[in-house]
Amino acid sequence: MGALPVFRWRLAPDGYATRRQLRARGLRPGGQDVAAQLERPRRRRGPLVAYLYRLDLAQPVRPMTPAKWAALAKANAARRTCPQCRSDAGYVIPTSLGTCVPCAFPSTSPRSA
Ligand SMILES: [Zn+2]
Repeated sequence: MGALPVFRWRLAPDGYATRRQLRARGLRPGGQDVAAQLERPRRRRGPLVAYLYRLDLAQPVRPMTPAKWAALAKANAARRTCPQCRSDAGYVIPTSLGTCVPCAFPSTSPRSA
């Protein structure tokens, strides 16, 4: 078990960042192990510890891929499609109705007069 390098609070070397700092840069640890830790001594209690990750191993927060966008669009289209008349209602079908409004209230639809 190799001991992690420990740095004093605010004396972290360049190239390391906490998870929060990575996040602020649009990065994530990316599966790497904790590379170092910061300790801030506190009176009477154990030190406050922050874990550091290496910036050079960090990866961008997973971007949306075209396939993901397509899946999302498909899911949204499905939510807009009325199961009764099979048309795109142009809005998400209210789960309380289960169908588009003209199907749910045929008598109020101008087309069914
Ligand atoms: Zn309908």
